[in-house]
Amino acid sequence: MRVTPLGLHCEPGGFFIDPIRPVDRAVVSHGHADHARPGHGAVLATAETLAIMRARMGEGAAGRQQQALAPGQVVTQNGVRVWLRPAGHVLGSAQICVEWRGSRIVVSGDYKRRFDPTCAGFEVEPAPDVFVTEATFALPVFRHPPAEAEIARLLRSVALFPGRTHVIGAYALGKAQRVIALLRAAGWERPIYLHGALLPLCRLYESFGVPLGELRPATVADKAQLVGAIVLAPPSAIADRWARRLQDPVVCLASGWMQVRQRARARGVELPLVISDHADWDELNRTVDEVGAPEVWVTHGRDDALVHAMAQRGLRGRALHLVGLGEEDEGGEADPAGGTGGTAGEPAGSGAASGTAIGAASGAASGTGEGTA
Ligand SMILES: [Zn+2]
Repeated sequence: MRVTPLGLHCEPGGFFIDPIRPVDRAVVSHGHADHARPGHGAVLATAETLAIMRARMGEGAAGRQQQALAPGQVVTQNGVRVWLRPAGHVLGSAQICVEWRGSRIVVSGDYKRRFDPTCAGFEVEPAPDVFVTEATFALPVFRHPPAEAEIARLLRSVALFPGRTHVIGAYALGKAQRVIALLRAAGWERPIYLHGALLPLCRLYESFGVPLGELRPATVADKAQLVGAIVLAPPSAIADRWARRLQDPVVCLASGWMQVRQRARARGVELPLVISDHADWDELNRTVDEVGAPEVWVTHGRDDALVHAMAQRGLRGRALHLVGLGEEDEGGEADPAGGTGGTAGEPAGSGAASGTAIGAASGAASGTGEGTA
């Protein structure tokens, strides 16, 4: 397995994992736009991810040849065994497990460990030779509160301000559906109103058996109907004219970054909701320990803190500096001026390591001597 400018490349298998430009053969971890790109030849992914790709980029761009793989089902490509395990991130999200000549690597994509009724929970693939992890929230300051407590704060605000409209910024894939499911679990049975950009993926979730209750399009023209209601919109819409035309809106944003007060203030968010689809600091470290790989590669985000923490526990960590990740969902929220001193907002500048074969050390560790994992 090598890092190339296109992404992780499995040379013997002849495929890329989450490549950033069109390739002949891609294995795709999940449907966020920074992982699932248009224009590949063959795409291997879960049925849910393939459906999400078709819905977002059109039938023609979602891979000329699409192969759906159920969790646990194994395919062999040029002697390389590939299978998927749920990652708990969004509907269809999967860790990609690759085995060749007795050594095994697990590429987790994006993941979280909290319960999420809208997707299958993260499953540990035990003791691979290499575990590849994200690091979006890999700083000790990031400890996500229970999502249920954040929803309870939202519902208290709704009860307190019955004359206002609560508009929640939520990413179209994953976060919006999770917030709706959390609201339903908290007993909110009234219709939930959606900005038009969120409706198609909510319908797609429902088609895969995720119940979301009554959803209605939020037409600003009919704003009297939205008084006291909960409206969901893409994060980009909460600050623009669309949201301001609602009745005295309470602007909310559901994101792990809402733990950083400056970010909430900078975006004009009155009610920040710390709800994340990524593992927090404790969950990243716990996951690395539970997986039990002797070597951990960190794809993007705050890799230095995680690599340091792992070294203190005797784990070999390696920052991959993959280009182009972290551009959709919460990964794309980071910005260097955000006040946490992070680097997650600089994917474009991190390509220095591209093209380097970094499998050598792990190949030696796993005894194949061929720079693989
Ligand atoms: Zn993602």
